[in-house]
Amino acid sequence: MLLVSCRAGLPSLQRLLPQSPSRGLTSKGATVYDAVISGGGMVGTAMACALGSDPHLGHKKILLLEAGQRRDGDRLPERFSNRVSSITPGSATLLAGFGAWDHVTAMRLKAFKRMQVWDACSDALITFDKDGMEDMGYIVENDVVMAALTRQLSAMSDRVEVLYRSRASRYTWPSLYQNDGASPWVQIELSGGQTIHTKLLIGADGQNSSVRSASGIRSVQWSYDQVAVVATLQLSEATDNNVAWQRFLPTGPIALLPLSDTCSSLVWSTSPDHASRLLNMDGESFVDAVNSAFWSNESYSDFISSAGSVLRSAISFLMPSGTSARQLPPSVSHVDTDSRAAFPLGMCHATEYVRHRVALIGDAAHRVHPLAGQGVNLGFGDVACLVQHLSRAAFNGQDLGSTRHLLQYETERQRHNLPIMAAIDLLKRLYNTKQAPVVLLRTLGLQATNAILPAKEQIMAFASK
Ligand SMILES: Cc1cc2nc3c(=O)[nH]c(=O)nc-3n(C[C@H](O)[C@H](O)[C@H](O)COP(=O)(O)OP(=O)(O)OC[C@H]3O[C@@H](n4cnc5c(N)ncnc54)[C@H](O)[C@@H]3O)c2cc1C
Repeated sequence: MLLVSCRAGLPSLQRLLPQSPSRGLTSKGATVYDAVISGGGMVGTAMACALGSDPHLGHKKILLLEAGQRRDGDRLPERFSNRVSSITPGSATLLAGFGAWDHVTAMRLKAFKRMQVWDACSDALITFDKDGMEDMGYIVENDVVMAALTRQLSAMSDRVEVLYRSRASRYTWPSLYQNDGASPWVQIELSGGQTIHTKLLIGADGQNSSVRSASGIRSVQWSYDQVAVVATLQLSEATDNNVAWQRFLPTGPIALLPLSDTCSSLVWSTSPDHASRLLNMDGESFVDAVNSAFWSNESYSDFISSAGSVLRSAISFLMPSGTSARQLPPSVSHVDTDSRAAFPLGMCHATEYVRHRVALIGDAAHRVHPLAGQGVNLGFGDVACLVQHLSRAAFNGQDLGSTRHLLQYETERQRHNLPIMAAIDLLKRLYNTKQAPVVLLRTLGLQATNAILPAKEQIMAFASK
Protein backbone atom coordinates (compact mmCIF):
# COMPACT_ATOMS: atom_id res chain seq x y z
CA MET A 1 0.00 0.00 0.00
CA LEU A 2 2.61 2.55 1.08
CA LEU A 3 5.39 1.94 -1.40
CA VAL A 4 8.99 1.45 -0.33
CA SER A 5 11.83 2.09 -2.73
CA CYS A 6 13.66 -0.63 -4.65
CA ARG A 7 17.38 0.10 -4.60
CA ALA A 8 19.15 -2.89 -6.10
CA GLY A 9 22.47 -1.96 -7.64
CA LEU A 10 22.57 1.71 -6.66
CA PRO A 11 25.54 1.59 -4.28
CA SER A 12 27.75 0.20 -7.06
CA LEU A 13 27.13 3.37 -9.12
CA GLN A 14 28.73 5.25 -6.30
CA ARG A 15 32.17 4.26 -7.50
CA LEU A 16 31.51 6.16 -10.71
CA LEU A 17 30.72 9.41 -8.92
CA PRO A 18 33.12 12.36 -8.96
CA GLN A 19 35.26 13.14 -5.94
CA SER A 20 34.14 16.28 -4.17
CA PRO A 21 36.35 19.28 -4.58
CA SER A 22 37.61 21.04 -1.48
CA ARG A 23 35.47 23.62 0.27
CA GLY A 24 35.01 27.06 -1.24
CA LEU A 25 35.38 26.02 -4.88
CA THR A 26 32.95 27.77 -7.12
CA SER A 27 31.21 26.50 -10.17
CA LYS A 28 30.88 29.09 -12.96
CA GLY A 29 31.40 31.83 -10.39
CA ALA A 30 28.59 30.69 -8.07
CA THR A 31 29.18 29.61 -4.47
CA VAL A 32 28.95 25.87 -3.90
CA TYR A 33 27.16 25.02 -0.66
CA ASP A 34 27.72 21.70 1.07
CA ALA A 35 24.00 21.52 1.93
CA VAL A 36 21.00 23.64 0.99
CA ILE A 37 17.69 23.10 2.79
CA SER A 38 14.74 24.18 0.67
CA GLY A 39 11.83 25.06 2.98
CA GLY A 40 12.07 26.71 6.38
CA GLY A 41 8.94 25.36 8.07
CA MET A 42 9.24 23.60 11.44
CA VAL A 43 11.13 20.63 9.96
CA GLY A 44 13.46 22.54 7.61
CA THR A 45 14.40 25.10 10.27
CA ALA A 46 15.05 22.29 12.77
CA MET A 47 17.28 20.67 10.14
CA ALA A 48 19.22 23.93 9.72
CA CYS A 49 19.70 24.21 13.51
CA ALA A 50 20.77 20.56 13.80
CA LEU A 51 23.32 20.90 10.96
CA GLY A 52 24.57 24.21 12.38
CA SER A 53 25.17 22.75 15.82
CA ASP A 54 26.86 19.51 14.78
CA PRO A 55 30.58 19.57 15.67
CA HIS A 56 31.61 17.56 12.58
CA LEU A 57 29.79 19.89 10.19
CA GLY A 58 31.30 23.12 11.56
CA HIS A 59 33.40 23.75 8.44
CA LYS A 60 30.55 23.13 5.98
CA LYS A 61 28.69 25.81 4.03
CA ILE A 62 24.99 25.47 4.83
CA LEU A 63 22.07 27.51 3.51
CA LEU A 64 18.37 27.57 4.41
CA LEU A 65 15.95 28.87 1.77
CA GLU A 66 12.45 29.90 2.80
CA ALA A 67 9.82 31.28 0.45
CA GLY A 68 8.00 33.11 3.25
CA GLN A 69 9.04 35.74 5.73
CA ARG A 70 11.15 35.24 8.85
CA ARG A 71 8.90 34.02 11.69
CA ASP A 72 10.61 34.72 15.00
CA GLY A 73 7.50 36.24 16.65
CA ASP A 74 9.18 39.13 18.51
CA ARG A 75 6.27 39.34 20.91
CA LEU A 76 4.09 36.39 21.86
CA PRO A 77 0.42 37.34 21.32
CA GLU A 78 -1.78 37.00 24.40
CA ARG A 79 -4.28 34.86 22.49
CA PHE A 80 -3.37 31.32 21.57
CA SER A 81 -2.90 30.53 17.90
CA ASN A 82 -5.35 28.01 16.40
CA ARG A 83 -2.45 25.96 14.88
CA VAL A 84 -0.89 23.71 17.50
CA SER A 85 1.07 20.45 17.51
CA SER A 86 1.35 17.68 19.99
CA ILE A 87 5.12 17.33 20.46
CA THR A 88 6.51 14.02 21.72
CA PRO A 89 9.23 13.81 24.41
CA GLY A 90 11.56 12.46 21.68
CA SER A 91 11.04 15.60 19.57
CA ALA A 92 11.52 17.81 22.65
CA THR A 93 14.86 16.06 23.25
CA LEU A 94 15.92 16.77 19.65
CA LEU A 95 15.01 20.46 19.97
CA ALA A 96 16.75 20.62 23.37
CA GLY A 97 19.88 19.14 21.78
CA PHE A 98 20.48 22.33 19.78
CA GLY A 99 19.04 24.78 22.32
CA ALA A 100 15.59 25.51 20.83
CA TRP A 101 13.49 23.77 23.51
CA ASP A 102 14.61 26.33 26.14
CA HIS A 103 13.03 29.05 23.96
CA VAL A 104 9.80 27.00 23.72
CA THR A 105 9.58 26.57 27.50
CA ALA A 106 10.36 30.28 28.02
CA MET A 107 7.48 31.15 25.69
CA ARG A 108 4.45 28.85 26.08
CA LEU A 109 3.59 25.16 26.17
CA LYS A 110 1.24 22.84 28.02
CA ALA A 111 2.38 19.40 29.13
CA PHE A 112 -0.19 16.62 29.17
CA LYS A 113 0.05 13.61 31.45
CA ARG A 114 -2.76 11.41 30.16
CA MET A 115 -4.58 10.60 26.92
CA GLN A 116 -8.08 9.23 26.71
CA VAL A 117 -9.35 7.92 23.39
CA TRP A 118 -12.86 6.51 23.10
CA ASP A 119 -15.44 5.32 20.62
CA ALA A 120 -18.75 7.14 20.09
CA CYS A 121 -20.45 3.86 19.08
CA SER A 122 -19.68 1.94 22.28
CA ASP A 123 -18.17 2.16 25.77
CA ALA A 124 -14.73 1.11 24.48
CA LEU A 125 -11.89 3.34 25.53
CA ILE A 126 -8.13 3.34 25.86
CA THR A 127 -6.08 5.49 28.18
CA PHE A 128 -2.38 6.21 28.16
CA ASP A 129 -0.35 7.62 31.01
CA LYS A 130 3.00 7.12 32.66
CA ASP A 131 1.72 6.61 36.24
CA GLY A 132 0.21 10.08 36.02
CA MET A 133 3.61 11.58 36.88
CA GLU A 134 5.69 11.94 33.72
CA ASP A 135 4.80 14.18 30.79
CA MET A 136 3.32 12.22 27.87
CA GLY A 137 3.87 15.07 25.48
CA TYR A 138 3.44 18.82 25.01
CA ILE A 139 0.89 20.91 23.17
CA VAL A 140 2.77 23.79 21.56
CA GLU A 141 1.59 26.42 19.10
CA ASN A 142 3.31 26.03 15.73
CA ASP A 143 4.20 29.74 15.90
CA VAL A 144 6.01 29.12 19.19
CA VAL A 145 8.00 26.20 17.69
CA MET A 146 8.87 28.37 14.68
CA ALA A 147 9.87 31.36 16.85
CA ALA A 148 12.05 29.12 19.05
CA LEU A 149 13.79 27.53 16.05
CA THR A 150 14.26 30.88 14.29
CA ARG A 151 15.81 32.45 17.41
CA GLN A 152 18.17 29.54 17.82
CA LEU A 153 19.11 29.69 14.14
CA SER A 154 19.89 33.42 14.44
CA ALA A 155 22.41 32.51 17.14
CA MET A 156 24.16 30.30 14.57
CA SER A 157 24.43 32.92 11.82
CA ASP A 158 28.17 32.28 11.51
CA ARG A 159 27.41 28.63 10.65
CA VAL A 160 24.15 28.71 8.67
CA GLU A 161 23.13 31.29 6.07
CA VAL A 162 19.42 31.97 5.73
CA LEU A 163 17.55 33.53 2.81
CA TYR A 164 13.94 34.46 3.55
CA ARG A 165 11.46 35.40 0.77
CA SER A 166 13.54 33.19 -1.52
CA ARG A 167 11.63 30.53 -3.41
CA ALA A 168 13.50 27.78 -5.23
CA SER A 169 11.87 27.86 -8.64
CA ARG A 170 13.97 25.54 -10.83
CA TYR A 171 16.44 22.74 -10.27
CA THR A 172 19.08 21.26 -12.57
CA TRP A 173 20.26 17.82 -11.51
CA PRO A 174 23.83 16.58 -11.92
CA SER A 175 24.48 13.60 -14.12
CA LEU A 176 25.57 10.39 -12.38
CA TYR A 177 28.27 9.96 -15.02
CA GLN A 178 30.42 13.09 -15.19
CA ASN A 179 31.45 12.93 -18.85
CA ASP A 180 29.48 15.84 -20.25
CA GLY A 181 31.28 18.74 -18.57
CA ALA A 182 28.08 19.79 -16.77
CA SER A 183 28.13 20.96 -13.15
CA PRO A 184 28.54 18.05 -10.76
CA TRP A 185 26.24 19.80 -8.25
CA VAL A 186 22.53 20.46 -7.94
CA GLN A 187 21.77 23.93 -9.33
CA ILE A 188 18.90 25.84 -7.78
CA GLU A 189 17.40 28.86 -9.46
CA LEU A 190 15.72 31.27 -7.07
CA SER A 191 12.63 33.31 -7.94
CA GLY A 192 14.83 36.43 -7.81
CA GLY A 193 17.02 35.06 -10.62
CA GLN A 194 20.04 34.03 -8.50
CA THR A 195 21.54 30.54 -9.02
CA ILE A 196 22.93 28.44 -6.19
CA HIS A 197 24.98 25.24 -6.38
CA THR A 198 24.95 22.56 -3.72
CA LYS A 199 26.40 19.13 -3.07
CA LEU A 200 23.25 18.12 -1.20
CA LEU A 201 19.73 19.52 -1.57
CA ILE A 202 17.45 18.72 1.37
CA GLY A 203 13.78 19.07 0.40
CA ALA A 204 11.82 20.28 3.43
CA ASP A 205 9.30 22.13 1.29
CA GLY A 206 6.12 20.53 2.59
CA GLN A 207 3.37 18.32 1.22
CA ASN A 208 3.49 19.75 -2.32
CA SER A 209 7.28 19.52 -2.41
CA SER A 210 8.77 20.83 -5.64
CA VAL A 211 12.07 19.12 -4.76
CA ARG A 212 10.19 15.80 -4.72
CA SER A 213 8.40 16.35 -8.01
CA ALA A 214 11.33 17.96 -9.86
CA SER A 215 13.71 15.18 -8.82
CA GLY A 216 11.31 12.62 -10.28
CA ILE A 217 10.56 10.92 -6.96
CA ARG A 218 7.13 9.35 -7.16
CA SER A 219 4.65 9.37 -4.32
CA VAL A 220 1.60 7.37 -3.28
CA GLN A 221 -1.15 9.68 -2.14
CA TRP A 222 -4.83 9.94 -1.51
CA SER A 223 -7.29 12.40 -0.06
CA TYR A 224 -9.31 11.36 3.00
CA ASP A 225 -12.25 13.45 1.83
CA GLN A 226 -12.08 14.97 5.29
CA VAL A 227 -11.29 18.43 6.56
CA ALA A 228 -9.80 19.28 9.96
CA VAL A 229 -11.62 22.15 11.64
CA VAL A 230 -9.40 23.84 14.22
CA ALA A 231 -10.34 26.45 16.83
CA THR A 232 -9.29 27.82 20.21
CA LEU A 233 -11.86 27.03 22.89
CA GLN A 234 -12.52 28.44 26.36
CA LEU A 235 -13.50 25.87 28.98
CA SER A 236 -16.52 26.27 31.27
CA GLU A 237 -14.31 26.13 34.37
CA ALA A 238 -10.60 26.08 35.21
CA THR A 239 -9.10 22.62 35.76
CA ASP A 240 -5.61 21.07 35.75
CA ASN A 241 -6.40 20.46 32.08
CA ASN A 242 -3.57 17.99 31.56
CA VAL A 243 -5.42 15.34 29.53
CA ALA A 244 -5.50 15.09 25.72
CA TRP A 245 -8.98 13.88 24.68
CA GLN A 246 -9.99 12.23 21.43
CA ARG A 247 -13.36 10.72 20.56
CA PHE A 248 -13.89 8.73 17.37
CA LEU A 249 -17.18 9.79 15.79
CA PRO A 250 -18.45 7.93 12.69
CA THR A 251 -17.68 11.12 10.70
CA GLY A 252 -14.09 11.38 12.01
CA PRO A 253 -12.13 11.98 15.23
CA ILE A 254 -12.56 15.06 17.40
CA ALA A 255 -9.69 16.04 19.70
CA LEU A 256 -9.44 18.53 22.55
CA LEU A 257 -5.83 19.42 23.36
CA PRO A 258 -4.91 21.39 26.51
CA LEU A 259 -3.35 24.85 26.13
CA SER A 260 -3.79 26.26 29.67
CA ASP A 261 -6.03 25.71 32.71
CA THR A 262 -8.90 27.37 30.89
CA CYS A 263 -8.16 26.96 27.17
CA SER A 264 -7.96 24.01 24.79
CA SER A 265 -7.36 23.60 21.10
CA LEU A 266 -9.83 21.75 18.88
CA VAL A 267 -8.96 19.50 15.94
CA TRP A 268 -12.20 18.11 14.50
CA SER A 269 -11.82 15.96 11.38
CA THR A 270 -15.06 15.66 9.50
CA SER A 271 -16.66 15.69 6.05
CA PRO A 272 -16.11 18.82 3.91
CA ASP A 273 -19.86 19.68 4.05
CA HIS A 274 -20.04 19.39 7.81
CA ALA A 275 -16.80 21.38 8.14
CA SER A 276 -18.18 24.24 6.10
CA ARG A 277 -21.32 24.27 8.29
CA LEU A 278 -19.12 24.32 11.43
CA LEU A 279 -17.12 27.23 10.05
CA ASN A 280 -20.19 29.26 9.15
CA MET A 281 -22.43 28.73 12.19
CA ASP A 282 -22.55 31.33 14.99
CA GLY A 283 -20.24 30.88 18.00
CA GLU A 284 -22.96 29.60 20.35
CA SER A 285 -24.12 26.88 17.92
CA PHE A 286 -20.49 25.92 17.29
CA VAL A 287 -19.88 25.45 21.04
CA ASP A 288 -23.08 23.35 21.30
CA ALA A 289 -21.89 21.21 18.37
CA VAL A 290 -18.48 20.64 20.04
CA ASN A 291 -19.99 19.75 23.44
CA SER A 292 -22.50 17.42 21.82
CA ALA A 293 -19.74 15.72 19.76
CA PHE A 294 -17.96 14.85 23.02
CA TRP A 295 -21.02 13.97 25.09
CA SER A 296 -23.84 12.76 22.83
CA ASN A 297 -24.83 9.06 22.64
CA GLU A 298 -26.44 9.43 19.22
CA SER A 299 -24.20 6.80 17.58
CA TYR A 300 -24.23 4.45 20.54
CA SER A 301 -25.16 0.78 19.95
CA ASP A 302 -26.58 -1.14 22.95
CA PHE A 303 -25.71 -4.48 21.36
CA ILE A 304 -22.03 -3.58 20.85
CA SER A 305 -21.79 -2.06 24.31
CA SER A 306 -23.22 -5.21 25.91
CA ALA A 307 -20.65 -7.33 24.08
CA GLY A 308 -17.93 -4.89 25.18
CA SER A 309 -19.06 -4.96 28.80
CA VAL A 310 -18.92 -8.79 28.87
CA LEU A 311 -15.29 -8.56 27.77
CA ARG A 312 -14.61 -5.78 30.29
CA SER A 313 -16.08 -7.85 33.16
CA ALA A 314 -13.94 -10.82 32.12
CA ILE A 315 -10.85 -8.59 31.99
CA SER A 316 -11.50 -6.99 35.38
CA PHE A 317 -11.96 -10.48 36.86
CA LEU A 318 -8.78 -11.91 35.30
CA MET A 319 -6.64 -8.72 35.47
CA PRO A 320 -8.01 -6.30 38.08
CA SER A 321 -5.40 -3.70 37.04
CA GLY A 322 -6.23 -4.07 33.35
CA THR A 323 -9.17 -1.66 33.16
CA SER A 324 -8.82 2.08 33.55
CA ALA A 325 -11.27 4.63 34.84
CA ARG A 326 -13.17 6.71 32.30
CA GLN A 327 -12.80 10.44 32.89
CA LEU A 328 -15.22 12.99 31.58
CA PRO A 329 -13.90 15.65 29.18
CA PRO A 330 -14.31 19.31 30.18
CA SER A 331 -17.19 21.22 28.67
CA VAL A 332 -16.61 24.19 26.44
CA SER A 333 -18.12 27.63 27.08
CA HIS A 334 -17.05 29.62 24.03
CA VAL A 335 -14.89 29.75 20.95
CA ASP A 336 -12.32 32.51 20.38
CA THR A 337 -13.41 34.95 17.68
CA ASP A 338 -11.85 34.27 14.27
CA SER A 339 -10.02 31.20 15.56
CA ARG A 340 -11.92 28.75 13.35
CA ALA A 341 -10.10 27.46 10.25
CA ALA A 342 -10.10 24.32 8.11
CA PHE A 343 -7.41 22.15 6.49
CA PRO A 344 -8.02 19.37 3.94
CA LEU A 345 -6.57 16.01 5.00
CA GLY A 346 -4.72 13.41 2.96
CA MET A 347 -1.99 10.80 3.00
CA CYS A 348 1.18 11.00 0.95
CA HIS A 349 4.32 8.88 0.96
CA ALA A 350 7.35 9.39 -1.26
CA THR A 351 8.46 6.03 -2.65
CA GLU A 352 12.07 7.16 -2.25
CA TYR A 353 13.40 9.63 0.32
CA VAL A 354 16.75 10.12 -1.45
CA ARG A 355 18.37 10.35 -4.83
CA HIS A 356 21.91 11.28 -5.82
CA ARG A 357 22.52 14.63 -4.01
CA VAL A 358 18.88 14.89 -2.81
CA ALA A 359 17.10 13.96 0.43
CA LEU A 360 13.51 14.58 1.50
CA ILE A 361 12.42 15.25 5.08
CA GLY A 362 9.15 16.10 6.84
CA ASP A 363 5.89 16.49 4.91
CA ALA A 364 7.87 16.52 1.65
CA ALA A 365 8.50 12.80 2.32
CA HIS A 366 5.34 11.83 4.20
CA ARG A 367 2.02 13.35 5.17
CA VAL A 368 -0.35 11.72 7.65
CA HIS A 369 -3.82 12.22 9.13
CA PRO A 370 -3.53 14.32 12.34
CA LEU A 371 -5.47 11.77 14.44
CA ALA A 372 -2.28 10.47 16.08
CA GLY A 373 -0.47 13.83 16.30
CA GLN A 374 2.56 12.40 14.51
CA GLY A 375 3.17 14.55 11.38
CA VAL A 376 5.82 16.98 12.55
CA ASN A 377 7.22 14.43 15.01
CA LEU A 378 7.99 12.08 12.12
CA GLY A 379 9.68 15.06 10.43
CA PHE A 380 11.80 15.79 13.52
CA GLY A 381 12.74 12.08 13.55
CA ASP A 382 13.94 12.47 9.94
CA VAL A 383 16.08 15.43 11.05
CA ALA A 384 17.72 13.47 13.89
CA CYS A 385 18.46 10.54 11.61
CA LEU A 386 19.74 12.50 8.58
CA VAL A 387 22.01 14.71 10.69
CA GLN A 388 23.51 11.64 12.32
CA HIS A 389 24.41 10.14 8.91
CA LEU A 390 25.71 13.43 7.50
CA SER A 391 27.80 14.04 10.61
CA ARG A 392 29.38 10.60 10.26
CA ALA A 393 30.02 11.20 6.55
CA ALA A 394 31.70 14.54 7.32
CA PHE A 395 33.80 12.95 10.05
CA ASN A 396 34.96 10.32 7.54
CA GLY A 397 35.70 12.96 4.91
CA GLN A 398 32.96 11.70 2.57
CA ASP A 399 30.86 13.67 0.09
CA LEU A 400 27.62 14.74 1.86
CA GLY A 401 25.55 14.18 -1.29
CA SER A 402 26.63 10.59 -1.75
CA THR A 403 23.87 7.99 -1.84
CA ARG A 404 26.07 5.72 0.28
CA HIS A 405 24.91 7.33 3.54
CA LEU A 406 21.73 8.89 2.14
CA LEU A 407 20.42 5.37 1.48
CA GLN A 408 21.08 4.43 5.10
CA TYR A 409 18.96 7.41 6.14
CA GLU A 410 16.18 6.30 3.77
CA THR A 411 16.16 2.71 5.01
CA GLU A 412 16.17 3.69 8.67
CA ARG A 413 13.40 6.23 8.31
CA GLN A 414 11.16 4.16 6.05
CA ARG A 415 11.40 1.30 8.56
CA HIS A 416 10.24 3.69 11.27
CA ASN A 417 7.71 5.79 9.35
CA LEU A 418 5.89 3.17 7.29
CA PRO A 419 4.45 1.10 10.17
CA ILE A 420 3.26 4.30 11.86
CA MET A 421 1.70 5.61 8.65
CA ALA A 422 -0.01 2.27 7.99
CA ALA A 423 -1.37 2.17 11.56
CA ILE A 424 -2.72 5.73 11.29
CA ASP A 425 -4.38 4.94 7.95
CA LEU A 426 -5.90 1.75 9.38
CA LEU A 427 -7.25 3.57 12.44
CA LYS A 428 -8.78 6.24 10.22
CA ARG A 429 -10.59 3.57 8.16
CA LEU A 430 -11.55 1.35 11.10
CA TYR A 431 -13.23 4.22 12.92
CA ASN A 432 -14.89 5.78 9.91
CA THR A 433 -17.77 3.32 9.88
CA LYS A 434 -20.86 2.41 11.87
CA GLN A 435 -21.05 -1.13 10.43
CA ALA A 436 -21.82 -3.43 13.37
CA PRO A 437 -19.20 -6.18 12.71
CA VAL A 438 -16.41 -3.59 12.35
CA VAL A 439 -17.59 -1.66 15.40
CA LEU A 440 -17.75 -4.89 17.41
CA LEU A 441 -14.26 -5.89 16.29
CA ARG A 442 -12.72 -2.52 17.15
CA THR A 443 -14.58 -2.34 20.48
CA LEU A 444 -13.20 -5.71 21.56
CA GLY A 445 -9.76 -4.84 20.13
CA LEU A 446 -9.58 -1.47 21.90
CA GLN A 447 -10.65 -2.95 25.24
CA ALA A 448 -8.23 -5.83 24.98
CA THR A 449 -5.37 -3.45 24.08
CA ASN A 450 -6.33 -1.20 26.99
CA ALA A 451 -6.07 -4.20 29.33
CA ILE A 452 -2.73 -5.53 28.11
CA LEU A 453 -0.17 -3.26 29.74
CA PRO A 454 2.86 -4.42 27.71
CA ALA A 455 0.94 -3.67 24.48
CA LYS A 456 0.05 -0.18 25.71
CA GLU A 457 3.61 0.44 26.81
CA GLN A 458 4.85 -0.58 23.35
CA ILE A 459 2.42 1.82 21.68
CA MET A 460 3.48 4.63 24.04
CA ALA A 461 7.17 3.94 23.50
CA PHE A 462 6.77 3.92 19.71
CA ALA A 463 4.58 7.02 19.60
CA SER A 464 6.72 9.09 21.97
CA LYS A 465 9.89 8.92 19.85
C1 LIG B 1 -5.00 20.23 11.54
C2 LIG B 1 -3.63 19.67 11.69
C3 LIG B 1 -3.18 19.30 12.94
C4 LIG B 1 -1.90 18.75 13.10
N1 LIG B 1 -1.50 18.37 14.34
C5 LIG B 1 -0.27 17.80 14.49
C6 LIG B 1 0.16 17.37 15.78
O1 LIG B 1 -0.54 17.50 16.78
N2 LIG B 1 1.39 16.80 15.89
C7 LIG B 1 2.20 16.62 14.79
O2 LIG B 1 3.30 16.05 14.94
N3 LIG B 1 1.81 17.03 13.57
C8 LIG B 1 0.61 17.61 13.39
N4 LIG B 1 0.21 18.03 12.15
C9 LIG B 1 1.13 17.89 11.00
C10 LIG B 1 2.15 19.02 10.96
O3 LIG B 1 1.51 20.28 11.00
C11 LIG B 1 3.00 18.89 9.69
O4 LIG B 1 3.53 17.59 9.63
C12 LIG B 1 4.16 19.89 9.70
O5 LIG B 1 3.69 21.22 9.74
C13 LIG B 1 5.04 19.71 8.45
O6 LIG B 1 6.14 20.58 8.56
P1 LIG B 1 7.15 20.76 7.34
O7 LIG B 1 8.17 21.74 7.82
O8 LIG B 1 7.60 19.43 6.85
O9 LIG B 1 6.29 21.37 6.16
P2 LIG B 1 5.58 22.79 6.04
O10 LIG B 1 5.07 23.25 7.36
O11 LIG B 1 4.59 22.67 4.94
O12 LIG B 1 6.76 23.79 5.63
C14 LIG B 1 7.24 23.84 4.33
C15 LIG B 1 7.96 25.18 4.15
O13 LIG B 1 8.60 25.19 2.89
C16 LIG B 1 8.42 26.47 2.29
N5 LIG B 1 8.52 26.26 0.85
C17 LIG B 1 7.67 25.57 0.05
N6 LIG B 1 8.12 25.56 -1.23
C18 LIG B 1 9.29 26.26 -1.23
C19 LIG B 1 10.23 26.59 -2.26
N7 LIG B 1 10.05 26.20 -3.52
N8 LIG B 1 11.32 27.32 -1.92
C20 LIG B 1 11.52 27.73 -0.63
N9 LIG B 1 10.65 27.44 0.38
C21 LIG B 1 9.56 26.70 0.08
C22 LIG B 1 7.05 26.94 2.77
O14 LIG B 1 6.96 28.35 2.72
C23 LIG B 1 7.02 26.38 4.19
O15 LIG B 1 7.50 27.32 5.13
C24 LIG B 1 -1.06 18.58 11.96
C25 LIG B 1 -1.51 18.96 10.70
C26 LIG B 1 -2.78 19.51 10.55
C27 LIG B 1 -3.26 19.91 9.18
